[in-house]
Formats: sequence, structure tokens, C-alpha cells
Amino acid sequence: MVETIKDELMKFENSNCAEDSIFFQAMEEVIYSISPLLESDPRYKSHAILERLVVPDRIIEFKVTWLDDNNKIQVNTGYRVQFNNALGPYKGGLRFHPTVNKGVLKFLGFEQILKNSLTGLPIGGAKGGSDFNPKGKSDFEIMKFCSAFMTELHKYIGPRVDVPAGDIGVGAREIGYLFGEYKKITSSYEGVLTGKPFMFGGSLMRPEATGYGVVYFTETMLEQELKEPLSGKICTVSGAGNVAIYTIEKLQAIGAIVVTCSDSQGTIYDSRGIDLKLVKEIKLERRASIKEYLDVYKEATYIPVSEYPEGGHAVWNIPCYAAFPCATQNELTEVDAKNLIANGCISVSEGANMPSTPEATELFLSNKICFAPAKAANAGGVAVSEFEMSQNASMQKWSFEKVDEKLKETMQQICKRVFLTAKDYGVEGNYVDGANIAGFKRVADAMIAEGI
Ligand code: NDP
Repeated sequence: MVETIKDELMKFENSNCAEDSIFFQAMEEVIYSISPLLESDPRYKSHAILERLVVPDRIIEFKVTWLDDNNKIQVNTGYRVQFNNALGPYKGGLRFHPTVNKGVLKFLGFEQILKNSLTGLPIGGAKGGSDFNPKGKSDFEIMKFCSAFMTELHKYIGPRVDVPAGDIGVGAREIGYLFGEYKKITSSYEGVLTGKPFMFGGSLMRPEATGYGVVYFTETMLEQELKEPLSGKICTVSGAGNVAIYTIEKLQAIGAIVVTCSDSQGTIYDSRGIDLKLVKEIKLERRASIKEYLDVYKEATYIPVSEYPEGGHAVWNIPCYAAFPCATQNELTEVDAKNLIANGCISVSEGANMPSTPEATELFLSNKICFAPAKAANAGGVAVSEFEMSQNASMQKWSFEKVDEKLKETMQQICKRVFLTAKDYGVEGNYVDGANIAGFKRVADAMIAEGI
């Protein structure tokens, strides 16, 4: 069977361009993980599920032309990768970042199919975005870019077709502008985007959902594996965006001590515990550099990217009980994994999408670190997005407590599903394989039932 899988992989590798290398990385992990499932049930092979699942239903690529504050015309590229809708409407975030290209969005869209499947909710997988860089842009420029982006995107989305949300560079402000433009073009007030501000249809707790969900998942995993709580433990978090901030908030709420956060320019280490109110003010309100933390806390340490360990990241060089990579893909390398393990870390939970390189993941698994892979651990965001779709469709507003309770329940169920699947397929304790098999199986079974 392994030989067949290797043949499959070679087929994909030979047809891939350099841009697709990250997509290939994500696909390779999944294909290896699901080999026991493919071996146990010949239907998946005879229905060519793998071949059909790794090719997106469609990739929409469009030009986005907008006028900057100096009345200069700017041109960017927009994309929507509608990957698979066997389980429900396409669903997945939009990313605005200069590194966005088709390969990155294919990787994120592919992961999204399995993540959405794992939630048990009726949502398919997609991803989109643009190479637009929001950094340094005025509020007015952001609005003009979002309007221009939606001028094209609106043709391909709808509440029962494809429902985008936020991701890196796309928060409530951008979703608000995108929603406003959609409404203007279509004259339709409908739940076509999630992550909307509460005043026009957003769900309470959507901003907090991914980060809180990561912590709920980790608590369940540690209880299951070690009967240990997170309370009183030293934790390290990377990033200072939506996912990182609410991971820190929930960790602090349950009594853990978070000593780091970071942005793309550097890392803050504060041994007395990060002042989250200050981080929110710097990163969410002023959109400034995390270095400004030092203006208030002179005793904290700032490590610029130029002083990071060779081949690694400063956050993972700091001793901790549990680590939470929450910034971006491949931010935690083999060097980092070795440092974490040597410093006594016993748990790693991925808040970002695929933040650990394959070599780092392998080290965590072989060293029996409790490892929560992204597609399971960070599924809380998309789960609450689906709750937002339900609220919009039924014209209801749920309370914060109700959303929080349902989120917690969903994360606990995902964790148990992953644990039990791993056990059933002879890889107990391996949450990577458990998540890939459970996620793949639900989509694959739907694809078989729906025919070609
Ligand atoms: P944000 O844009 O809110 O924050 C991203 C953070 O990561 C910022 O601190 C940013 O620094 C840092 N960062 C971004 N790119 C890099 C890079 N190349 N190197 C180092 N640091 C970087 O994004 P989110 O918090 O929403 O997303 C973070 C991760 O979580 C992504 O992988 C995303 O796909 C994933 N995710 C997000 C969900 C959500 O609900 N938002 C749901 C599930 C997954 P700076 O401020 O300097 O730009």
C-alpha cells in the first residue's frame, strides 16, 4: 500500500509548479495519514476519491483595480479557490497578504475541507484572498480595495453557494466593507460573509472563537492524555493577531501564564506574563509594532527577527509547558521543535494553519509530545462561522454564553472524535492521523453517496 501511495505522490509532485510546494506539503501529510483507511475500504480507491479530492472544483482568479490616496491606480490579483462542496456550501477565509498566491490558497483550501468536515457541520471547503498588502494603507484605501475586490467576487458567492470569512489581514473592518459592497451591488441583505460586526448580523464570540477553541481543544487533549490542567503552567504563544490574542485571553482566563507574543518583525518575552490589554491596544487599535510593548514594560525583552536563532524562531527558544504557534504556516521548524523538546515542553497546539514544518511534526510525534494539529485545534473559528450562518438564516441572535457553550462542546467533540479515530486505526495518541482520517472519511463518504 505504501508503494501505491508513493506512486500517487510522485504523480502529483511531477505535475506541481514551485508555487504549489506548500500545497504538496499539506497533501503529502494527509495521504500518508489516511493509508490505513484506504487499505481497509476499497471503495475509496474504486471511486477515485483521492484523485478527485486533491483537485479544486474551480479556481477563480481576477484583477482588482483600485485608486490609492494619491489618486494613483493600483492593480492586485484576487482569488477564490472553491475546493469541495460535498458536505455543504464552500466555506473558508479570505487572506490579504503579499505572499498570497494560488499555491498558498490551494493548501489552505485543502486543509479547510478536512477541518470543516471534522466539525461535523454542513460546510464545504474553500479559501480566497489577494496579494494586496494592508500594511501602511489608510482606512479609506482599505475600503476602496475591499469594494473593488467584491465587485468581482460577488459573482461567485452566496449564502447557499460560498460563504467567505476572514483570515490574515482580513478582520471585522474588512468584512464590513466587503459586506457593504456586496449589499450595494446585489441589493440583497443576506448572510454571504461571516465574521461580520455584531450590529449587522455577526455572531457574538466570532472574534474570540478560534483562539478560545484552541484552548478548549488543548484542555480536552491534556485531560485525555495526561490528566493535567493548563492552570498555573507557563505557555508560549506566537503571533499578535486575532488567533494569538484570543488564545492568550482564554489561557489567562483559566490561570495559565503566557510569557510571549510576536509579530512579523520580532518577539516579546515578559516573564511576569504578557499584558494583553496593552497588546490589544498596540496591535488591534493602533496596528503598530509589538516592539512598542517595551515603551510601557522596560523590563520585558524584545528580540528582533535579525536576532532569532539560526533556522528558528525566538518564541520557541523560551522554556514552556505548552506551546501555541498562532502566526502563520511553517513558522515552527525542526530547530524550534528540538529546542522546545529540550526545554521540557510537553504540548504543542496549532492555532495557525500548518505552522509546524513536517520535520517538526515528526519530532513531536516521535517524542510523544501531545500534538494538536491545526485542522482539529483551530476549527473553532469556522464552527462559530457556521453558527453565524444559522443565526442569519433564522433571523436570530444567540447570547455570548450560548455560543461559548456550543463552541466548547464542538471542540470537545472534535478532540474525542480525533482520539477515537486514531485508536480505531491503530495509531492511538497520534492526533495528526486521527484528524486526517476522521476528516477525510466524512467527505469521502459524502462524495461516494453523491456520485460523480
Ligand atoms: P492576523 O492577521 O490577525 O494576525 C497574524 C499574526 O501573525 C500577526 O501578528 C502577524 O504579524 C503575524 N504574521 C503574519 N505573517 C507572518 C509571517 N510571515 N511571519 C511572522 N509573523 C507573521 O491573522 P489571524 O490571527 O487571523 O491568523 C493567524 C493564523 O491563524 C493563520 O495561519 C490563519 O490562517 C489561521 N487561522 C485563522 C482563523 C481566524 O479565525 N482568524 C481561523 C483558523 C485559522 P504582523 O502584525 O507584523 O503582520
